[in-house]
Amino acid sequence: MRAYSSLPLDDDIVDRIMTFCPTFGTLQATILVSKAFYRVFQIHPKSITRAVAYNIVGPALPQALRMIRYPYDEYETDDSHALDATAMATACPEEQAVTIITAMEKIELQEESKMVGTLEDIYSLTNKDRMSRTSLLTSEESWRFRRAIYRIKLFCRLFSIQCYGNFEELDDDEFDDDMIQRIRAQRMAIPNEYPADELLQLYSVVAFMKGIFADVLGEAANSSSVLVDVLLATGPDGALRAWEERSPDSLQDDHGFGLFADNDNYKLFAGYFAIPFKNIWTARNITPPKDDDPPSKWILDQVNGANDTCSQCAAPGGLKLFTPANWDRLDTDPLNLLKGNLRQNTTVTTPFTGLTAHLYDPPAIEAWISELFTLRQSPDFDGWEAEDSYCRECLTKFLEAHVWRWFLDTRLKAGWAPPEDCWYGWNCRTQTHKLGHAQTKNHLCVPTRGDRT
Ligand SMILES: [Zn+2]
Ligand SMILES: [Zn+2]
Repeated sequence: MRAYSSLPLDDDIVDRIMTFCPTFGTLQATILVSKAFYRVFQIHPKSITRAVAYNIVGPALPQALRMIRYPYDEYETDDSHALDATAMATACPEEQAVTIITAMEKIELQEESKMVGTLEDIYSLTNKDRMSRTSLLTSEESWRFRRAIYRIKLFCRLFSIQCYGNFEELDDDEFDDDMIQRIRAQRMAIPNEYPADELLQLYSVVAFMKGIFADVLGEAANSSSVLVDVLLATGPDGALRAWEERSPDSLQDDHGFGLFADNDNYKLFAGYFAIPFKNIWTARNITPPKDDDPPSKWILDQVNGANDTCSQCAAPGGLKLFTPANWDRLDTDPLNLLKGNLRQNTTVTTPFTGLTAHLYDPPAIEAWISELFTLRQSPDFDGWEAEDSYCRECLTKFLEAHVWRWFLDTRLKAGWAPPEDCWYGWNCRTQTHKLGHAQTKNHLCVPTRGDRT
C-alpha cells in the first residue's frame, strides 16, 4: 500500500528503512523527515524500536537489557538478613522477545554498547589479531564476547565493592563466616543460570579482564593474587579504565579501596569469580578449564598470527609482537630510549622531555614511531620495515638507535646550533656529572673514542 502520493514508497518499505537506523538519534531524525515515516512508526513503534536497539547492541540485547534493568536496590547483598540466592538469580530474566524500551534505557543501551565495543577492540587486538586496532571478531565471536561482558557487568554491579558499604571502614565482625558463605551462595547462583558453553565463554572473558589487571599491577599481582580479585569487582568498566590509564590508581580512588593497604576485608573478594566457577563445575560435573587457558579459548573460532615470530630475531611472540596497531602498548618512558648516558645528561633530558611530553596519547606514539622508521640507519637496520612485527627487545633496540637521531634532527630544524662534538658521544660519562662539560660539548653524536657500541 502506498503511504502518500508525495512519497512513492510502500508502507512496508518505509517500515524497513526505519529498522535499518544505526542509532535512536537517526531513527528520530528519520521519523521527522515526513509524515509518512511518522505515521508508519506510529503503527509499529515496538518492532521498529526493537530493530534499532538490535542494530546498536546486537544479539546480546537481552543480556544488555537485563544488566541495565536489574532491580539492584531490592537485592542489597550486604543485608544481614539472608537473601535468597535463587530469587536473586532469577529476578528480571533475560527477555528474548523484547517489547518495550524506555527513553532512558535507549540512552543507557547506546552508552553501554559503546563501552563494550571499545572493550571488544582491545580484546581483538590482544587475542584475535594484533594488526588491527578495531575488532576483527566474526559476528558469532562478537556475540559470545558481548553476551559474556554484559553478564559479567551484572555480576559486578550486584557484588560491587560499594555494595559492602565503605570498604576501608568495614568492621571485621560484620563479615563472619556465615555471611561469607551466604555471599558465596549468591555469587554462585547468578552464573549458575547460564548453560555450560556460555559459562565457559564467561570464564574466557574473565581471564581477559584478569590479564589487564595483572598487567597494571605488575609485580604486585604475583605477590598477592587477591589484588586482581579486588580489581575484578570493578567490572568491565574498571578493566577498560585500567587499560586506558595503564594503572589501577584512579580505580582505587573512585571505588574507595587501597590495594596495597593491609586489609582483611579482601577476603570478601578472594576467588571473586574463581570460587563460583569452581562450585559450578563441581555441581554440574563439568571438566574445569585450566588456569592457563588463553582468553581466546571459548570465544574465538580462530586466532590470527598466534604462531608468528619476530621479523628480526625469530623469537616467538604471537599476538604479543609489536606492530603499528599496538606500538602504544610498549609502555616505555621515551627517556629510557635515549642512548648510552644521554638519559643522565640534564642538558639533553630537559629539552627532550619537553618534546616528548605529548607521547602518552596513542595516535601520537604511532606517528612518532612511524617517523623514527623514516630515519632508518644503514646498514644495521636495512630491511627493518615499520609494518613488520617485532619482539620487545628488537623494537627497543631499533628505537634506541634512532630516538637520539630524531632528537638531534628536531633540534637542528628548530635552529639549534650544537657545540663541538664530544669524542665520547652518547657514551661520555663526564656529561652525567659535569654540567660545564655537558653544556659546552654536543653528546648527540656517535662516539669516536672509547666504547662505540
Ligand atoms: Zn626480535
Ligand atoms: Zn663528553
